[in-house]
Amino acid sequence: MHPPHNPFENAMAQLDLAAKLRNFDDSFIDSLREPNRDIRVSIKVKMDNGGTEIFEGYRVEYNNSLGPYKGGIRYHPKTEINEVKALAFWMTLKCAVVGIPMGGGKGGITVEPKNLSKSELERLSRGWVESLSDVLGPYKDIPAPDINTTPEIMAWMADEFAKISGDKTLATFTGKPMAKGGSEGRNEATGLGGFYVLETLRKEIGLPEKCEVAIQGFGNVGSNAAKIFIDHGHKVTAVSDSQSGIYNPNGLDIKKVLEFKKNTGTLLNFSKENPECKNITNEELLELPCDILIPAAFENVITGSNADKIQARAILELANGPVTPEADEILFKKNIPVIPDILANAGGVTVSYFEWEQNLKGEHWTPEQIFEKLRPIMETASSEIFNKAKDVNTSLRMGAFIVALERIQRKKLSSI
Ligand code: NAD
Repeated sequence: MHPPHNPFENAMAQLDLAAKLRNFDDSFIDSLREPNRDIRVSIKVKMDNGGTEIFEGYRVEYNNSLGPYKGGIRYHPKTEINEVKALAFWMTLKCAVVGIPMGGGKGGITVEPKNLSKSELERLSRGWVESLSDVLGPYKDIPAPDINTTPEIMAWMADEFAKISGDKTLATFTGKPMAKGGSEGRNEATGLGGFYVLETLRKEIGLPEKCEVAIQGFGNVGSNAAKIFIDHGHKVTAVSDSQSGIYNPNGLDIKKVLEFKKNTGTLLNFSKENPECKNITNEELLELPCDILIPAAFENVITGSNADKIQARAILELANGPVTPEADEILFKKNIPVIPDILANAGGVTVSYFEWEQNLKGEHWTPEQIFEKLRPIMETASSEIFNKAKDVNTSLRMGAFIVALERIQRKKLSSI
């Protein structure tokens, strides 16, 4: 028996749908049904109590037709190989959507990082690099942050890789802190990219100039998206983390929420101190009436069971894989556009690519330079996908799949 909503099965169901809509070469589609390489390692970590624990780690190198494998590393107790494979597949398409010369990869460790001390976390992160150093490199495979992995973790990893390989470019890991070769704008890149996408498509999908926004997940992506949408005049009415959600129909004071989360580590008691807000569950958040619903936490949160209850006018997927194929079908029939992950959250990998380029050239680009480069990439990709979906009379997700698959197929054919 497999778990419900195996993310890799979902990803392959999406691939099948896209393959039916366009006349792709069968052998090309088949070549995307499994990754080029899926590597599993046992990482032995010395714990603070003197004992040793073994953690399971992964790197999936899905496809490198367009360039070196690129994709984040996730630390989570539920991370397993099917999740990492799905995420690596989506990375392959995501890089193609924004037209950057990178392929798709993803990594992870099955671990609850909250249970580790900082030094244990550092040894685990260095251990992941040691186990996988053979396959990593600035022209081979370039990891980045994802859920529960931070710029500090990227700095440990980049340092470990430099020690083992002698490569001093720092270009093998992106999402590093500024002082360790990171790029301006990387922290907010995913949220900002999503905002540019929304702005490009807003009128086309019938949203008002000022929107009410509900955001699930208040980590790197969700909290930055909240700030950016508010800075541009929209109203964020709800946010949530793994333990709780908060809702204020008049709009949340996001600075206050951020401060509270920073001090207490949770949103749980925010409403007690701020009675204008009410506590809601993650499930309730997804079903709130609003203009834009932004899932920014995990995959499979909008499924066949709750898609019918969604009241948002549009969904902007900043998380990877939050809407299952069954839910997609229901939402399409309900005329609720889903702006798909491989477009909506591609700002993150785009600025990671800028970081890689700066490291290799020994340059430092200003925030203005980064945003000036990011914006047209996101706008062009959004318009191309909107037009493709319209031409083929399909969803935005299928529009994005077709654009990406056509690019990868073209590159494959031209290199034969
Ligand atoms: P993060 O670790 O910074 O934050 C994750 C957030 O999700 C936290 O606020 C956590 O409390 C919350 N969360 C955990 N379990 C939850 C649950 N069951 N319900 C609701 N919220 C829950 O991670 P992140 O980097 O912000 O990544 C979030 C999503 O965005 C992931 O799907 C990731 O793959 C995707 N993404 C991230 C980037 C990036 O640059 N970091 C880029 C593209 C896509």
